[in-house]
Amino acid sequence: MTVTTLANYINGAWRPSQSEQLLDVHNPATAEVLARVPLSPAEEVDQAAQAAATAFETWRRVPPVERVQYLFRLKTLLEEHIDDLSRSITNENGKTFAEARGEMRRAIENVEVACGIPTLMQSEFSEDIASGIDEFVIRQPVGVAAIIAPFNFPGMIPFWFLPYAVATGNTVIIKPSERCPMTMHLAVELMQQAGFPPGVVNLVNGGADTVNALLDHPLISAVSFVGSTPVARHIYARASANGKRVQAQGGAKNPIVVLPDADLETTIRIAADSAFGNAGQRCLAASLAITVGDARGPFTEAIVAAARQRVVGYGLDPDVTMGPVISPQSKERIERLIEQGVQEGARLLEDGRDIVVRGYERGNFLRPTILDNVPPGGIIARTEIFGPVLGLLHAETVDEAIALVNSGEYGNMACLFTSSGAAARKFRYEAMAGNIGINIGVAAPMAFFPFSGWKASFFGTLHGQGRHAVEFFTQTKVVIERWPKEWSRQF
Ligand code: NAD
Repeated sequence: MTVTTLANYINGAWRPSQSEQLLDVHNPATAEVLARVPLSPAEEVDQAAQAAATAFETWRRVPPVERVQYLFRLKTLLEEHIDDLSRSITNENGKTFAEARGEMRRAIENVEVACGIPTLMQSEFSEDIASGIDEFVIRQPVGVAAIIAPFNFPGMIPFWFLPYAVATGNTVIIKPSERCPMTMHLAVELMQQAGFPPGVVNLVNGGADTVNALLDHPLISAVSFVGSTPVARHIYARASANGKRVQAQGGAKNPIVVLPDADLETTIRIAADSAFGNAGQRCLAASLAITVGDARGPFTEAIVAAARQRVVGYGLDPDVTMGPVISPQSKERIERLIEQGVQEGARLLEDGRDIVVRGYERGNFLRPTILDNVPPGGIIARTEIFGPVLGLLHAETVDEAIALVNSGEYGNMACLFTSSGAAARKFRYEAMAGNIGINIGVAAPMAFFPFSGWKASFFGTLHGQGRHAVEFFTQTKVVIERWPKEWSRQF
């Protein structure tokens, strides 16, 4: 069977890359090569930037009410093709079909919110700041925006930015993850069908060099990034040194705190979904559970039982509840971290290594893994593992638990499980994370809220989604006007 090489989409047409550097895209459950992705050179980034800059001059003049008509059409097309897109996510990323469908729902939700741009772009107006003088704010698009995405939500994450960027009058270049580039290829085909004028949406495949060409390109004004913290730091530093506005969402190490008065059944269901959903490859995955006081025994016993119930396998098989991790390298890295955790004193309650899934012997499978007695300063407590591994810690008081939550480098998410309103309020007030869950795992904020990471989980000021995205993709122009009546002809 021939394997296709993915093309770039520039100025309204699919163009093969001239790059000789090609990477295989694997199905992580079967190891099958699904496609080849080119690592596009700087000249192809330049072609996309030129096309986007030219299209911007016309697109920014299209009234917002007309621009959103393309998004309404896109929303309909995404709905019609949601199963194809979800299958593509499962095949290239490994997550289950249900998880992939959930991902696409969140993508579509962002398109829906951006359809409100005519209202969302409205601004302030003050009449008579002095006699006969008015002052007001206009929101105008910033120009060409680059969107650089990670592998773990290949269908959703570009949509945290793209609908808002184009609805506010910008043009975009998407750079999908080179490990999962196929779903965005399908989504851009739908954008082509939706009729966006040439150059408004562009897609360039590639890796680090392609990204650096985007960060350095003088025609690109804004960069939206989601990925690991070291790369987010690099993106933020390099793009802002080049005078661009940047929002860079990074990695995470998310704690959940369980108090003795929590409803155990709800807590366990949510904690297991949060830790092992998407095989733990979520920036909002729970990776540390901190039990307080008497919560320890019952929580530990029940979470181990819940972990054992996960059915690991190929995400398109209907009974499967957890897919593989993205690559053999990722699997080896996770296994190594588990071993290091054991060596530093953690107790392995559930060991997910050495699993073979019948029929999928070449897949990158792990089972859920649970480590108890995790040392707070050690490798399991500090490292973003990005796999189905949950570390357990214990605290005697809520204050001690919150101190543990706040001792980490990251600040993407923190959750509390309790039936005490006072404890919940204290946690919400004091936990140093940008997304908080109370008796709920944080899936991802709804599209009309910002995806609000803190500390090493975010570099920038304005986050993705909702009003933050509208502000990020627009610049304010403040106008002060005087129209004395004696200058006008009398009618
Ligand atoms: P990654 O940082 O390896 O890659 C992300 C993007 O950066 C890719 O498009 C890749 O091509 C590019 N890239 C990689 N190395 C680069 C370099 N040296 N220079 C320039 N560009 C480079 O991330 P990943 O492994 O694809 O995704 C997983 C990470 O993303 C995890 O750390 C996860 O927590 C994070 N993530 C964060 C959020 C969030 O909202 N904060 C959401 C999803 C994923």
